Amino acid sequence: RPAPPRPPATRVFVVANQKGGVGKTTSTVNIAAGLAQLGLRVLVVDLDPQGNASTALNVEHRRGVAGTYDALVDGVALAEVEQECPDVEGLFVVPATIDLAGAEIELVSVVAREGRLKKAIVAHPRVGSADQVGDDRYDYVLIDCPPSLGLLTLNALVAGQEMLIPIQAEYYALEGLGQLLETVELVKANLNPELDVSTILLTMYDARTRLAAGVAEEVRSHFGPQVLRTAIPRSVRVSEAPSYAQTVMTYDPGSPGALSYLEAAREIAATGVTP
Ligand code: ADP
Ligand code: MG
Repeated sequence: RPAPPRPPATRVFVVANQKGGVGKTTSTVNIAAGLAQLGLRVLVVDLDPQGNASTALNVEHRRGVAGTYDALVDGVALAEVEQECPDVEGLFVVPATIDLAGAEIELVSVVAREGRLKKAIVAHPRVGSADQVGDDRYDYVLIDCPPSLGLLTLNALVAGQEMLIPIQAEYYALEGLGQLLETVELVKANLNPELDVSTILLTMYDARTRLAAGVAEEVRSHFGPQVLRTAIPRSVRVSEAPSYAQTVMTYDPGSPGALSYLEAAREIAATGVTP
């Protein structure tokens, strides 16, 4: 199949859900790798002090390595702290170190504290439209959020244009989403009117169970066309990949998890190509 066209300007996605363990990080790194494999240029911003996205994408993130913390707290340029993922061409990462855990508190006394990430992303010389920054631009920026609605996630919601919400296809899947969507409404009303919940992704989907099918149906009737047609199956290969500092896209490219993430990346790339 032909490669998807590039969007006319960088699309900035926030991958968020304040519930932990729903597949935010897994979806961020695998969709990012999928988009890059499709020939698009992608930047992942690791905004979780755990640094799991940085681990899966095989970039340095020991304490002391410059990354998201330095950009947010000290105003260091993202272009100075991003690293190329050694395994996937066209994929770059702003790593998170454990220092980022302190940022939530350190930022409280900073001026315009909720707009720090937006400022950093807007200032990136490879973020913007074709007219502004040319062919060298990133097509996608994906921000992997921590499992909370604190100041770090708020920075992402202010910086993003679109939201990708992973939802685990399990009992209580929709619980807690109300709080997330209320936060999104507050951010839209006060800080970032363009924020759009454009994409919902069902993760850890077990096609053999009626429960998963029921949850999927509930999510689809609640959100409609924002829900990607592709659901990501539960698969051991997906969960093994990070322990080899890999995405499943490089760890086992032919596996159902990798193929599903590639299909999800295609679906995302197919939207947003017309300005
Ligand atoms: P979050 O970032 O939302 O906390 P993660 O992406 O870290 O969630 O996923 C939580 C756990 O579930 C991790 O151990 C991950 O490897 C595992 N996991 C995620 N997606 C899948 C999947 N499709 N199949 C099997 N395990 C998965
Ligand atoms: Mg995570």
